[in-house]
Amino acid sequence: MFNKMNEECGVFGIFNHENACELTYYGLQALQHRGQEGTGIVTSNGERLIQYKGEGLVNQVYQKENLKNIIGIHAIGHVRYTTNGGGGLLNVQPFLFRSQKGQLGLCHNGNIVNAKNIKDHLEGMGSIFQTTSDTEILAHLLKRQAGSFIERLKESLLYLEGAFAFLVLLENELYIALDKYGLRPLSIGRIGDGYVVASETCAFTTIGATYIRDVKPGEVIHIDEKGIHSHHYALNHNCHMCSMEYIYFSRPDSDLLNVNVHASRKKCGITLAKESPVDADIVIGVPDSGMSAAIGYAEALQLPFEMGIIKNKYSGRTFIEPSQALREQGVKMKLSAVCSIVKDKKVVLIDDSIVRGTTSKKIIKMLRDAGAKEVHVRIASPEIKYPCFYGVDFSTYDELICARIDVESLRKKIDATSLSFLSIDGLLDSVSHQGLCLACFNGKYPTHLYENIEDANVEIK
Ligand code: SF4
Repeated sequence: MFNKMNEECGVFGIFNHENACELTYYGLQALQHRGQEGTGIVTSNGERLIQYKGEGLVNQVYQKENLKNIIGIHAIGHVRYTTNGGGGLLNVQPFLFRSQKGQLGLCHNGNIVNAKNIKDHLEGMGSIFQTTSDTEILAHLLKRQAGSFIERLKESLLYLEGAFAFLVLLENELYIALDKYGLRPLSIGRIGDGYVVASETCAFTTIGATYIRDVKPGEVIHIDEKGIHSHHYALNHNCHMCSMEYIYFSRPDSDLLNVNVHASRKKCGITLAKESPVDADIVIGVPDSGMSAAIGYAEALQLPFEMGIIKNKYSGRTFIEPSQALREQGVKMKLSAVCSIVKDKKVVLIDDSIVRGTTSKKIIKMLRDAGAKEVHVRIASPEIKYPCFYGVDFSTYDELICARIDVESLRKKIDATSLSFLSIDGLLDSVSHQGLCLACFNGKYPTHLYENIEDANVEIK
């Protein structure tokens, strides 16, 4: 489902390619679903870094003319969705910093849970922040450490708690760092004589790069003219990849930790069919992220899979519309029920998740208005009962309908004929690896949360 929840960004980087800037443009376009509010590119020609950024979609921000001016052989790029630090051009990444030691480009995906604490300490010691984004903290920490760049980077990362995938570009070096829990996806690949890094492997397919491997939790990868060098700033942490990446965020053609997103969603649908079967006429999915699970559900119960809802790909985003009346109109602009398919039918409606419940209610009404006799809702993920502090934009209990009411009350509220969710065990079986963050389903957070600043007790050198 679209606009149900949003994540804080996607990152892309390329080292040693004559078309670094153009390929970054196409890589960012492939990652556009991870953030639509702003985008930036920092390139290096080996001697000097140049920055270009703007608010809006990738194809709105970069025009042919300005792409020509940001030439380089290395680049990092970013697509932004704002959940922390506020919006505005100032906070669009990558950031570009200049110091006596040289220039540094920096971008990040995720959320640093002790950011406020560290920022307070740094400001107390005289640091002046240019932005309100927590990404900038790394630049200030780097400045305070001693030793080689890799030593300073590893030392700085030790202060940070939470979910992060950092890209740092120097004149002739690229550094890639993943948090010690592996909460955000980050893969590296090869193109020609160069290397690429991206939040999702779909960006590799788009530019013709070959996947090499995923970045490991706590790993820092350094790329220079001699090749790839692997370091670790933190050891012995198990992977806790965000399960929402499989359920909702990532593109179906991406592989996360060698598991294809479409295949895992389809398997969730098969498991859901075993757990909560329905005697129905047709199975339909909510576009886009409910479709794979709907195919699996229909296949498992040998029911016809139909296109009962069509999405208008070219409509705007509903959240910018101010009034409730206009928001309702916005949903209709995006989704249409196909009357001739659903009329007089017992329909199973598969969606990937329920966050606030408002969109589900509108879709069910739309199907009933189109003549559906029964609407059985099956959700291909468990109930989201706990907030996310790692960069997904439901960070309070109030935003989560399943934190406030039980399944039967929710069924009545959204006017479904029946309603069931995939179990947590069913999700684990379907995604087929156990290294998942399930905190929004079971409340077991893999990191410290530092809701109280004094809990963090950080001493910065
Ligand atoms: S709490 Fe939920 S949304 Fe947040 S990282 Fe964990 S699985 Fe993902």
